[in-house]
Amino acid sequence: MPYESQLALSLSPYVAGEQPKGRTFIKLNTNENPYPPSPRVGKALNGLAESLRLYPDMEATGLKEAIAKVNGLSPDQVFCGNGSDEVLAFAFAAFFAGKRLLAPDVTYSFYPVYAQLFGVHYETVPLREDYSVDVDGLMQGAPVALANPNAPTGIFLPLPEIRKLAEHCRKNDAVLLVDEAYAAFAPETAVSLLKEFDNLLIVCTFSKSHALAGMRVGYALGNLRLIDALRRVRDSFNSYPVDRLAQAAAEAAVLDTEYTEQSTRRIVAARDKCREALLEAGIQVLPSATNFLFVRADETDAAPVQQALRNEGILVRHFTAPRLKPWLRVTVGTEEDMEKVTEALIRLILGK
Ligand SMILES: *Cc1c(COP(=O)(O)O)cnc(C)c1O
Repeated sequence: MPYESQLALSLSPYVAGEQPKGRTFIKLNTNENPYPPSPRVGKALNGLAESLRLYPDMEATGLKEAIAKVNGLSPDQVFCGNGSDEVLAFAFAAFFAGKRLLAPDVTYSFYPVYAQLFGVHYETVPLREDYSVDVDGLMQGAPVALANPNAPTGIFLPLPEIRKLAEHCRKNDAVLLVDEAYAAFAPETAVSLLKEFDNLLIVCTFSKSHALAGMRVGYALGNLRLIDALRRVRDSFNSYPVDRLAQAAAEAAVLDTEYTEQSTRRIVAARDKCREALLEAGIQVLPSATNFLFVRADETDAAPVQQALRNEGILVRHFTAPRLKPWLRVTVGTEEDMEKVTEALIRLILGK
């Protein structure tokens, strides 16, 4: 008998983008925000050291109230976790364990990993020819998980499509999980649908739009019954997933809506400018409603272009799945970063 459980031996863990040490790179490989968090975050963290002898508030009351206020919801429609990755994991355990679950074939690559961990029968539906999510294909009477905007394509599914899917899922007593990690960069969010659908769970993160990837805070929005199921899973695993520093930082960040809107606008403008320049040069770039661009860097395999960029000090993400191989995912950085990566991409892809 091996030391490890059958479960541990059977897992194929998620592989995160590189966090380099030593050399300084222009880091456009993990969709972090190029700007610092709101200045209110530093102020909120000042002087908290002493309070760390006490366990945090397990319900993260202040943070939940702040998230509820900004989203026009009630605090008991909010659940907070240690990054949205943890919230997603709890959701997979709470709503999908032992069930069939449908997801687009191209989406956040953590979903199949959670599915494996929690015994979810994970089935994929191919994206359409234009890389958009095939909503009709996902309507098979089973629960659905998807990212909107989708990752790593960046493509956004309009609200009527989400509503159609939510309706279909509800008719089948199934939860629709919409991962809105990038919704701040998109034209709209599905939050307004929460009034209509008790089977809709929206998962969000502070890592991208609020520049707090290093703090690990994410949350879910949904009706009381769904929130309660998440709480049951949390309290069967770790009652205190969001520490005192994280609660204070995230609360300050979410309430500074003006700051977030400003940095988001800046990122969106840099994104659109880079996409236009690449398109004009004749390079294919999918439409993006996120803080990254999905760029076709080769006919067959973009790995050499990724390596060439790395040699020039620019990190971007490459995926090895057959359909994704010709593409690179380029996080939108500062205006200066984007000028450099735009020039380098045109030169390396077109050889000029
Ligand atoms: C980044 C990302 C997450 C994870 O966010 P954390 O809060 O940092 O765990 C979840 N879903 C998608 C689609 C993401 O891109």
